[in-house]
Formats: sequence, structure tokens, C-alpha cells
Amino acid sequence: PAVGASPVHEFPSLRYGPAAGLNKNLVPDLKDATPYTTKVPSLPVPSRVQEGKDAAHVTSVAAFDAMWKQSINDPEAFFGEHARNMIDWIQPFTKTRHGDFKTGDTAWFVDGTLNMSYNCIDRHALRNPDKVAIICERDDPNDAPVKVTYGELLKRVSQLANCLKEMGLKKGDRVALYMPECPETAIAMLACVRLGLVHSVVFPGFSHEALADRIRDAECKVLITADEAMRGGQRVPLKNVADEALYHTPSVEKVIVFQHTKTNAIKMKAGRDIYWDDAVKPHRPYCAPVPVAAEDPLFMLYTSGSTGQPKGIVHATAGYLLGIMLGGRYGLDIRESDVVAVAASAGWILGASYVVYGPLALGATTIMFESIPTWPTPDRYWSMIERHRATQFFTAPTAIRALRRLGDEHVLKYDLSSLRLLATAGEPINEAAHEWYFNVVGKGQIPVIDTYWQTETGSPCIHTMPGVRPMKRGSATHEFFGTQVAILDPETGHEITEPNVTGVLCYKHPIPSLCRTIYGDHQRYESVYFKEYPGHFFTGDSAYRDEDGYLFVTGRCDDVINTAGHRLGGTELESTLVAHEACAEAAVIGAHDEIKGQAPVAFVTLKPTHIPADQIPTVLRHHVRRAIGAIAAPKYVIVVDELPKTRSGKIMRRILRKIMDGESHNLGDTSTLADPDVVDKVIKATEEAI
Ligand code: ATP
Ligand code: MG
Repeated sequence: PAVGASPVHEFPSLRYGPAAGLNKNLVPDLKDATPYTTKVPSLPVPSRVQEGKDAAHVTSVAAFDAMWKQSINDPEAFFGEHARNMIDWIQPFTKTRHGDFKTGDTAWFVDGTLNMSYNCIDRHALRNPDKVAIICERDDPNDAPVKVTYGELLKRVSQLANCLKEMGLKKGDRVALYMPECPETAIAMLACVRLGLVHSVVFPGFSHEALADRIRDAECKVLITADEAMRGGQRVPLKNVADEALYHTPSVEKVIVFQHTKTNAIKMKAGRDIYWDDAVKPHRPYCAPVPVAAEDPLFMLYTSGSTGQPKGIVHATAGYLLGIMLGGRYGLDIRESDVVAVAASAGWILGASYVVYGPLALGATTIMFESIPTWPTPDRYWSMIERHRATQFFTAPTAIRALRRLGDEHVLKYDLSSLRLLATAGEPINEAAHEWYFNVVGKGQIPVIDTYWQTETGSPCIHTMPGVRPMKRGSATHEFFGTQVAILDPETGHEITEPNVTGVLCYKHPIPSLCRTIYGDHQRYESVYFKEYPGHFFTGDSAYRDEDGYLFVTGRCDDVINTAGHRLGGTELESTLVAHEACAEAAVIGAHDEIKGQAPVAFVTLKPTHIPADQIPTVLRHHVRRAIGAIAAPKYVIVVDELPKTRSGKIMRRILRKIMDGESHNLGDTSTLADPDVVDKVIKATEEAI
């Protein structure tokens, strides 16, 4: 079936709904087995972001809390005022907010009109055309970075927009992008939104099947791609892969091909395919921005597929723009003078929001990173930060863990003093990874900003604020503006208000940047997010709140391990394992167990170690037993070369669960798996270990 089109969703939460008939005594148990209690110490806010020229936008708990309270108690005033001040409107709105989580349908600023690309380009280009908007770090470190000014951006976006207009595309039509991480990707995204076209960026590592699924699901009329991408010295044959996909996507009428490597090894289909340069050449370098209603769809983006079939998330124009501007300004402290380095693909929400739209809406300079952090040496990020004097660096825990494994010396060679903060998103950050990021990369002088969000929320909902509260490792701290978390008892659906309890992570109020639907399947939208716990938005994750109100996302609801009547969060066990000197990464799942119901099983990758291979499982098991208790000691510790991950670098625990449950032949949707060979190796290692 097409991605996201199926009404039967695989969302794991169903098992936790009130009807699931789980152990009624779950809540007392949760307390006993709750791992974090008071043991996570707080790290004071570094003085650098609290005073002087590097002080963050908000620097006191009192000031932040006053803003946050207004965002909850009087969202019309809070978001209305920010929307008026931060966004350039074509026609100002008079109505701020509609709908609620009872119906699941929400809308913001409905009678206003605006244009996303005007807000990201024109308003800066008109004042400051020579300011650099985009710096692109090429795959080959010997190639000079490409720079695009706001003035050039306006011209190039306009030309492509005029070309798309001439192709007959109209507001609401979908355009697929399958592009390298280069400025042309941002240009194509901005050209689409200039006309009110809905882009769907597909990560350039996806297979032709995954690309075809996404194009078909969204019924895209145009595909914009490139001849090849370069990643870590390897050629990725985008056009050839796209050609395979195009056999199965009858909706695509035109294909625009950007010549990135200028290879001859591609074929162009007459009448359908046109080179980017030829397509834009005849067009005027100015295109008037089309007025778009606040609630018109801005773009769509598929979720990572960690828990099942990816969902084609649709964002609305004004709400999304406001969300990333608020997150960018207050959360990441982005200023116009900043150079923002976010190492993420525009095919993930992190890249869409903070590589492309956020920094540009705020008039800053953004860095696009085309390569991989370890090519040709494991210092690419750090050298990039030094050369461009980057002020924010943002990456996912998977990269932090990988770089930590390779040693400190690659970081220590560089002057990273331009950075004011380090950020992370995408998975819980293990304590050991946090410590390395904070101490080795940040020299203990700048905060690590953990941001918890989803493709669905467009911008972060739980956010360490630079300059506000002390950090706690593994916690994204407190709610961001507009979000009020409810931790629910998975069994009864009632809110658990006392601290130190794990439960289902839900939100009580809509935020402007929340997605409005799943493309082509609004019923799935209603049932995935609003049905399980009526009156709330259900994130699908579980979380723990300590007595200081710090929130710890403990993983997916489905990854909670129910062992002998206790509920254990996989994240806690994983963090404990990664804290051991021999362990690089860990994934813990609950496998079926005759006696206990479920027993934790750990899959680990190793750092260089002197511990003999055959002793590793015993050593790690004892380590967990000592750190958390016998209840948590994994039944098996299985050493693997690599863990199965999504293309966005998230561990796919559902695959490990299937393998342990003896269902290796039936792994579910694997279209977002980064490397299928890894799975075969894990199956083999598992067979040998148990
Ligand atoms: P799918 O919805 O298709 O299963 P996915 O949930 O991985 O895929 P994304 O929207 O890319 O797709 O990721 C959102 C999820 O990532 C969150 O629900 C959460 O599980 C995890 N996540 C994101 N940021 C954090 C964070 N800071 N700490 C812990 N987990 C995080
Ligand atoms: Mg998800």
C-alpha cells in the first residue's frame, strides 16, 4: 500500500489504551521501578549564556515562566502578539485560534494571508541583499564552500518559481524533492512555497521503492532531483534511482534535474525530463509571492518510520512559520548575526525547520552540510564550526555517540569558541553522550540544549532553554511555549500529577505548529493522535517527570518493558550500558519470557576494549545489575557490529523485538531502514547468542 494511505495503522499505542487490559496495579509498580528518581544531578547554567554579549534571549526562570504561563493561559495574546511581530503578513489576521483537542482539529490566524518565502527571503534581501543566507559545506573538504546571499536567493528562487508556474502547477499541487544537501534543495523548497505548492522532501538515501511510495501517496506532479549526490566520497545515483521510481508514479509529468556532479551517467527522458539550468534560464529573476491563507498547507513530510508505516504529515503555513521562529529565537537563541550549523537533512523535520526555514525566517546564515561527519576524517563538523565561526551546532544523539566512540582528539584540535550552544534532538540522549557533548565539545562552558519534538509538532515542545534552568542529563527539561504536558496512566488514561512516575506523554493544548492532517487520510490523523486519550494529543512516547518538574522522555510507549510486573524504560537501561567503558551504543527491548512476561534483552556495539569478547555479556549484565538492580539485568547481551537504524539515525527497536520473538521473516515496514545488511548480521548474532 502507499505510504500513509492505509487506514489500518500499526501504531503500537493501541496496546496501551484503556481497553488493553494491562495490569491494574501498574501505577504503584511504576513508582518502584522508576529509574531516574533524584539521581540525575543538575548542571548549572553556564555563565556565558546568562550575562554579557552572549546572554540568551531569556535568562531567568521568572521571565521564562511568566511567558510560558501566558502562552498557556492566554494563548490568543501570546501567540497573536508574536505572530503580529515576527511574521510579515499580506493581510493581517483578526482571529487567532480555533478548535481544540476535543475535536482534534485546530486552526490558527485563519483570516490572515502571507507568503513563507517572502518571510524567509524578501524581507531580508530588500534590506541586506549581500548578506550570506546559505553556506554549503561540500562533501569534498577541498572544494570551497558554496555561498548564496539573500539577494541571489531571491533571484534563484524566483526563476525556479516562474518555471514551476509555467509548467502549470497551481496552489496546493504537490512537488517531490529528491535532492542532495545543497543550496538548490532550499531553493526548490522556497520556490514551491512561493507559489503555495506543497513540497515533499524525500531523504536522498531512500530506495526507489520508498521514493515511489511517497510520490504516489502524495500524487506529486513534478519531481525535482539531481544527477547525483556525493556522500562520504561515494556517488549516490539519485537520477537513476528516481528513474526506477518513475516507472511506478504516473502522476509525475515533469522532472527537473539539477546537475550537481555533472556526470554523463544519466539518461534524460524526452518530454518529461529537463535540466535545472535549461528550465530556469528563460525566466525572469523575480516572481511575486502568491498570497497564501494561514491554514493553507505549507509542505508535507513523512515521519521516520521508527514505529511503523511512515505518516505523510501536513503542516499549515502560518502556524508552522511562527513555531519555528519562536523555537529558533527563544529556544536556540538565533540572532540575525548568527551562523547556524544544523547537521540534518531537509528530508527530516529537524532539517526542514532548522537548516532551511528557521534560520532564514530569522534572517541568519545557515550552513548546509553535504557530507558525513567522518569523511575523510572524523573532524568535519569541528573544522566547519571553526572556519565559519558557527554560533549554534545541532545534531542527533546517533552522531554524538558515533563521534564519541572515535575519540576526543578530533574535537580538541579546533577552536570552537564561536559556539554559544549545542543542541540535540531525535532520540533520548544518553547520559554518557551528553557528558561528552557538554565537556569535550562544549568545554563545559555552553549549554547542551535537548529538544524533544516530532515531525508532527514542527517545532520543539520540550526544550532545554539556554540561560534559564540548570540542565539535567537525559532531560529536555520543561515545556516550551504553548505546550503543557500531561503524563497519563496508560491503563486508565487519567493524568498522573505526582512526580517520579512514568506514563504516557500527551499534550493538553494545541500549538500553532502542530500538523493539521495526514495527507489523504484524516481518519488516521484522528485515530493516531486523538482517539486513544480523548482531549489530548498523544505523542506515542512515554515520559517521566521528576520532583523538580524535569521531563525525561523514556522512549516509545511500545518500548516500555514489562518485566515481572515492573515497567522499565529502555532508555534508562541503554544509558546505563553506554556509560560502561566498553559499550558504544545499546538498544534494549522486552522479549517474551515464560516466567516474567517480558525480559530485557540488550543489543550492544562496542568501543575498543581490553575485555575479552566472551566476557562482555557477563560484564555488562553485572554492570546493569549494580547500577539499576537485578530486575533490569538483561537476560541476553548480544554484541553486534551495528544496530538497525532508520535513515534518520534512530534505532529501530521494533525490528529487534521481532527478531527476538522469532519473527525474522516478518519484520514489518522496513522501507526506512538505513542498511538491510545490518539486520541479517543481527539475526545471525542473535542466533549465536541464544
Ligand atoms: P514514526 O512516527 O514513523 O514511527 P519517528 O517517530 O521516529 O517515526 P520523527 O517524527 O522523526 O519520526 O521522530 C519523533 C520521535 O523521535 C519522537 O516521538 C521521540 O520518540 C523521538 N525524539 C525526538 N526528539 C527526542 C528527544 N529530544 N528525546 C527523546 N526522544 C526524542
Ligand atoms: Mg513518530
